[in-house]
Amino acid sequence: MAIRTIRERGDSILNKKSREITEMNAKLSTLIDDMLDTMYEAAGVGLAAPQVGILKRLVVIDISENGDEPLVMINPVILEMSGEQTGDEGCLSVPGKAGTVTRPNYVKVRALDRNMKEYEIEGTELLARAMCHEIDHLEGILYVEKVEGELHDVQSE
Ligand code: ZN
Repeated sequence: MAIRTIRERGDSILNKKSREITEMNAKLSTLIDDMLDTMYEAAGVGLAAPQVGILKRLVVIDISENGDEPLVMINPVILEMSGEQTGDEGCLSVPGKAGTVTRPNYVKVRALDRNMKEYEIEGTELLARAMCHEIDHLEGILYVEKVEGELHDVQSE
């Protein structure tokens, strides 16, 4: 396992669309482990493969307080969304900044786990926000394109 370099805003790979994953292999399995390590190391709640320079439809999310509930989503698709939440959002590819984004308050997503087994997951609030944000990365969309008003600086801990 290893920490990968997180690409930052301005890197054109972040604006590209990622490709579907058709099979699991050792390289992809290592990528998942590395993405989890990289996300935890950076104290983020989510990371998408293009953020580490890989244009594949893979995201990892962990919104738990202890960082022990990793969620691996391969080829995630939003099936349903409803409601609305407006709040601050940040991104590991835009360090030190945050901005206000309106997202659905509920989403239902279908994805494959790391064994390529299909599952569905429902999320509200932070989990819904994280899933929308990470799935946007797979389309080459950064949250800064959706920010209402200006980005502001956040204190790093
Ligand atoms: Zn992000």
